[in-house]
Amino acid sequence: MPNAWKLLIIDDCATDRKIYRRFLLKDPHHYYQILEADSAEVGLGLCQNMPCDLILLDFCLPDMSGIEFLDQLRQKTFGSSVPVIMLTGHGDEEVAVQAMKKGVQDYLVKQHLKPDVLQLAVRNVIKQLYLQTQLQKTQERQRLIATMLLRIRQSLDLEEILYTAVREVQQLLKCDRVIVCQSSPETDSEQTGQNNSLLCYWAGSDDCNLKPLELLDNKANLMVPITLSDQQPVSKPWGFLIAHHCTKKREWQSDELEILCEVSVQLAIAIQQAELLTKTQAALEKEKQLNAFKSQIITTVSHEYRTPLASILAAASTLKQYGDHLDELKKQKFLHIIEQKARHMSKLIDDMLVMNQFELNKTKFKTIPLDLEQFFSILISEQQQLVSDRHDFIFQSTGNHKGFWGDQGLLRLIFSNLMSNAIKYSPKGGNIEFHLIGKESEVIFFIQDQGIGIPIEDQINLFQPFSRASNVDTLPGTGLGLAITKACVELHGGNISLDSQPDQGTKVTVCLPKQHIQKSSH
Ligand code: ATP
Ligand code: MG
Repeated sequence: MPNAWKLLIIDDCATDRKIYRRFLLKDPHHYYQILEADSAEVGLGLCQNMPCDLILLDFCLPDMSGIEFLDQLRQKTFGSSVPVIMLTGHGDEEVAVQAMKKGVQDYLVKQHLKPDVLQLAVRNVIKQLYLQTQLQKTQERQRLIATMLLRIRQSLDLEEILYTAVREVQQLLKCDRVIVCQSSPETDSEQTGQNNSLLCYWAGSDDCNLKPLELLDNKANLMVPITLSDQQPVSKPWGFLIAHHCTKKREWQSDELEILCEVSVQLAIAIQQAELLTKTQAALEKEKQLNAFKSQIITTVSHEYRTPLASILAAASTLKQYGDHLDELKKQKFLHIIEQKARHMSKLIDDMLVMNQFELNKTKFKTIPLDLEQFFSILISEQQQLVSDRHDFIFQSTGNHKGFWGDQGLLRLIFSNLMSNAIKYSPKGGNIEFHLIGKESEVIFFIQDQGIGIPIEDQINLFQPFSRASNVDTLPGTGLGLAITKACVELHGGNISLDSQPDQGTKVTVCLPKQHIQKSSH
C-alpha cells in the first residue's frame, strides 16, 4: 500500500483546517500531502484539476451545504468516487445519516475531535479504498485472463493456439515480447548441451534480437515451463512460456508470474487436444487410404484374375479331356500356358501382400553392409535370362561405393522392378543402361531404356498403387511395381525420380544415402 496520500480539507474556518492538518501530519503510519479549500467552489475546482484520494468536508460551508457539494462533486468529476469524510456539528446526526446515504464513507463530530480519532477514521477510509481498488484490479485481471484463455482454447490448430497465446499474454502484461519456445523432441538438450533446435512463436517488439539460447538463460525474463500431463515428471517439458522486457528494467510482480503459470496450464491442455486431433485425423486418413487400397485390391483381383484363370481352366480341361490324343509338343504348350498364367497370378498376390505391408507400416527393414557391384552383377545376370536377344545390357559402375548399408530384400525389389519395367516397356528391344555412381555419402543409380516412354500427363501418378500409363496397350502389368519401389527407396531414406519422353525412352534415377538410420520403428 502506498505511503503518501493526497487529502483535501474543505472548511471555511482557517483554525479548524489548521487543527486537522496538525492532527494528520502527526500520524506515525502515513504521510499526507494536504490541500486546503475555504469554500465549496474552490474545493470543487481543486477536485477537477488535481484528483485527490480523500476529502474532509465541513458540512456547513458558506456557499452551499455538504449535501449540495456532494451532488456537484459527482457531476463535475463525472461520478468519480473520491471517498469523503463529513465533519458535522454536535447533534447533527440526521444530517450525517443523509450524508451517508449519499455515499459518504464516514462522519465525525467536529467538537472535541481528537487527533487519534481523526487519524483512525482517515486511515480506515484509505484502507477500504485501497482494498476496493485492489479487488477491482483483481476482478478486471481475472476477467481479462478468462477472456484470453477462452480465445486460446477456441482453436484446435496448434500454431494458431500458440500465436493467440503469445499475442494475448503480451497485451495483458504489456511487455516487449512474449515467446513460446517448443523444445525439440529429437534432441535432448541435456545430452547435447544445445538448444539450437528450439521452435519459437512470439508476439511483440521486432527490436529484441534474441537468440533461442539467450532466451532460456536470461535471468531478467519471466519464464514458466509448459508440461503436458502425459509427460513423465523427469522428462524435459514440452516447452517454455517466456515474458521478456529489455527496453527498461522491469520488476516482475507475483501476479504476473501467476498469470504465466495459469496460461501455461491451459496451453498444455490446448496443446494436448490439438495433438490428439492431429493424430486422430492422421489415423482417419490412413484408414481411408487402407479402405481405398482394399477395394482397389478386390477390383484388381477380380479383373486381373479372370483372364489368366480362364486360360488355365481351358488349358487344363483340354489336357484332361483330350490328353491321350495330343502329341507331346501340344501337351507341353498347354502346360506352359498353365505355368505362365499361374506365375503371373502368384506375382500379383506377392506384390499386393508387399504393398499391404507397406500400407500397414509393417515392412521389415534391416540393413547390412553390402558390396553393390557384386549385388548388381547377380541381379543383372538373373534379369538377363528373362529377355530376348533384342536387348543389350550395359552396366557401368563409377566412384566409390564402399560403406553402403541396405536391406538386401528391399533393394532387390527396387532394382528388379525397375529392370523388369525397362525390359517390358521396350518391346522392340534396344539398349538398357544401368549406371551406378558412388559418391561421398550417397549412391546414385539410374536405369535408362529406349522403349515406349511415358506420356507427360501420366507421369505424375505412376508412383501411386495400381496406376498405369495410357500407352501400355496390351503389355501386362498391375501398376504396383513403382509404388513398391518408391516405398522401399523411402525406407532407405532415399528418393526416386523419373524422366521420360514418349517413344524415346525412360530414365529412372534412385539416390540412396550410404547409411540411413530410421527415425521411427515399425
Ligand atoms: P507391375 O506391378 O507388374 O510392375 P506395371 O509395370 O504396370 O505392373 P509399375 O511398374 O508400377 O506397374 O509401372 C507403372 C506404369 O508406369 C506402367 O504401367 C507403365 O505405364 C509405366 N512405366 C513404368 N516404367 C516404365 C518404362 N521404363 N517405360 C515406359 N513406361 C513405364
Ligand atoms: Mg512394373
